[in-house]
Amino acid sequence: MIGSMVFGSYVGLVFIADRPAMALPFAAVLIVALVATGTAVMHDANHGAFGRPRWLNQTLAFTADVLGASSWFWRHQHNGIHHGNTNVVGIDADIEQMPFARLAPAQPWKPWYRFQHIYMWPLYGFLTLRMLLLDFTGLFTRRIGSQELPRGPKRRDVIELFAGKALHLSWALILPMLFHRWWIVLVFYFACSWTVGLVLATFFQLAHCNDLVGFADLDAPRRGHDFSIHQLETTANVHTGGISRPVGWLMGGLNHQIEHHLAPGVPHPAYPAMADSVRNVCERRGIRYHVHPTFRAAVASHARWLRLMGTPDAG
Ligand SMILES: [Zn+2]
Repeated sequence: MIGSMVFGSYVGLVFIADRPAMALPFAAVLIVALVATGTAVMHDANHGAFGRPRWLNQTLAFTADVLGASSWFWRHQHNGIHHGNTNVVGIDADIEQMPFARLAPAQPWKPWYRFQHIYMWPLYGFLTLRMLLLDFTGLFTRRIGSQELPRGPKRRDVIELFAGKALHLSWALILPMLFHRWWIVLVFYFACSWTVGLVLATFFQLAHCNDLVGFADLDAPRRGHDFSIHQLETTANVHTGGISRPVGWLMGGLNHQIEHHLAPGVPHPAYPAMADSVRNVCERRGIRYHVHPTFRAAVASHARWLRLMGTPDAG
């Protein structure tokens, strides 16, 4: 369904629309379909969780490259660094936004962070563009954020990275430019890329960057004192009852980040069935199970956290 939404809206936008009033609804559907590809297909497949056959996960993992971000780098950053060291300051690249923002108490404060709760929202939109470009620098520096890559890319990984970038630029820019004026294509490209980036970055921030969860310092044991407890301390869900069905569908399981972080190899449609058991075990053992009651509350919690971290004496 997501694939046909991407294909249909893309065909409509590039080959059928001949005026803005026609192009805008196609672009809106394309944005929704690309976000859903990122959450429900790309994220699962790169965890090896989309389906049982290895070839299916490997093929669909390449959707990251089609979206503009190298799946090879994504697996290192997301599966390795982020999942292995969630909210560990100095390691988890997801909470490293310096010099733009301070997202954890142990990070140094700068005067401009006072306004980060305002300017970070538009900056989130550049997530996709940043990934499109930063993968090239990562290839030469062999680093992701402050972390050195455990191993360099093989020749096949490099070929796939360049093939992915070429494929992305071909469908998103070059092909449309054969049928429309170049500047119109650029305007639509940046508008779609920015919106997809904003929505995806917000979804990912709701789980780990808010005023419910905790952060670990660099001197904490690499994976916390207990890996599962560490994940529960640093991750929050958004209550399924508190999000509308369309948003829940669009999040592709990212509202169940606790279950995802405890069992990243499980496909996301299984998380709701796991959630009750996880919550019960937490209650029995006196472990906090962090849940934002609604989607709005989750966004507000992230906004409060940005504001708090922007004040000099908070920490
Ligand atoms: Zn994940």
